[in-house]
Amino acid sequence: MASLSARMVEAADGGDGDLLSWVARYGDEGSCEEALMRLRFPGGWACPRCGNRRCSPVAGRPRKRQCTRCRLQFSVTSGTPMQGLRLPLPT
Ligand SMILES: [Zn+2]
Repeated sequence: MASLSARMVEAADGGDGDLLSWVARYGDEGSCEEALMRLRFPGGWACPRCGNRRCSPVAGRPRKRQCTRCRLQFSVTSGTPMQGLRLPLPT
C-alpha cells in the first residue's frame, strides 16, 4: 500500500509544527537543536562518512550541522521520530 507507507514516512519525519512547539518550549532554536541531538544520538554523534565525532552548526542553515572534518552536512531533524520525542519534556 503505497499511500499507507507514504503516510508512515510522513509521520516518522515529524514536521515543523512539532519542531516549532519544541522551540517555543526551549526558548531558542539552538538549545532545541542540542536537545534533539542528544535524543537522536544518546552516545554522541559520529559522522557516517568519516567517523569524526565533532560537528558544528551551519551558518545560515537552521537545523543543519556539518562534520568538522569532512564537512558532510546533515539535518538535525531528518528522520527523527518526532512522536517519540514528546515524552520527557518538563512543562
Ligand atoms: Zn565527517
